[in-house]
Amino acid sequence: MDIIDLRSDTITRPTPAMRKAMADAEVGDDVFKEDPTVNRLEEMAARRMGKPAALLVGSGTMGNLVSQLAHCGRGDETLLGDQSHVFFYEQGGASALGGIHPRTLPNEKDGTIAPETIEAAIRPDDVHFPQSRLVIVENTHNRCSGTPLTAAYTATVGRLARRHGLKLHIDGARIFNAAVSLGVDAAELAAPADSVTFCLSKGLAAPVGSVLCGDEDFIARARRMRKSVGGGMRQAGIIAAAGIVALTEMVDRLAEDHANARTLAVGLAGIPGLGIDPDAIATNIVYFRVTAKGLDAPAVVARLGESGVRVLPTAKDQMRAVLNYHVTGADVQRALAVFSRVMKG
Ligand SMILES: *Cc1c(COP(=O)(O)O)cnc(C)c1O
Repeated sequence: MDIIDLRSDTITRPTPAMRKAMADAEVGDDVFKEDPTVNRLEEMAARRMGKPAALLVGSGTMGNLVSQLAHCGRGDETLLGDQSHVFFYEQGGASALGGIHPRTLPNEKDGTIAPETIEAAIRPDDVHFPQSRLVIVENTHNRCSGTPLTAAYTATVGRLARRHGLKLHIDGARIFNAAVSLGVDAAELAAPADSVTFCLSKGLAAPVGSVLCGDEDFIARARRMRKSVGGGMRQAGIIAAAGIVALTEMVDRLAEDHANARTLAVGLAGIPGLGIDPDAIATNIVYFRVTAKGLDAPAVVARLGESGVRVLPTAKDQMRAVLNYHVTGADVQRALAVFSRVMKG
């Protein structure tokens, strides 16, 4: 049975071009900054994000962590969404390792945080309060339907942060999905931010790695923090080589994942017992609900799995499908047929 794996875009395996580039990569000791392939990837990433410098890190979580450690001191406060990946899925690492205090603000359905909510949460100078230091936004917003944040929204947040002396970090794990969906350069989406991370290992199909981008001073501090959390890698050109292929060959094709996501969403909307608003789907992430009486998400997920379709249960009545490089348009049709069958019982 051919499995259709819709759990995440992190399940993507390196392409043949990536494996070849990895095998052929010229390498050196990156802690000495002597890996030419890492250096090339970092230059390329910085250019793509419109920032002066970049740093290859082991994961998106590490990128967000070292970014917070480089922006904030102990006791400083970050302002971030209550549905954000940094708050939800990163073990509170910034608190555990950096003594950084997270202030969560409600995410709207579209992944934004209302600018007036951010502004109202910024602390005045008072000896009782932590010092507000950093705003974090997420683009695309994973837990908010994979919605892309527009350049205009991010610019508004950037201006407001600057006005109050705060920095802005974008968790751009899927910022290229946002760029492709909105039809703009990723650099335009990143322009208002002091720092931005993106993942090579999700929709772009590289096996490992994320890149953190910002100015030279910031990246120098982040490089120190990366070393302190054990992220100083040696012949990391093996990884970077796949990242270069990801950036050069795998960005534009994300549009296929978005089209497939849309087709899946429209199909799911027509299946009794499932609930979804297809108009909310703008990138590759499709959340949908089980509305059928007597069925919950884990039960539906188990039945789908028996028929070779893998999705992720994300709540008692909610599941997630993420379109990716290995899922074709034909697979989407096949998956929809399985969904229909499973929901008919
Ligand atoms: C996946 C993800 C991350 C973290 O990436 P890892 O490589 O899994 O550590 C951060 N932010 C968002 C929005 C993500 O989806």
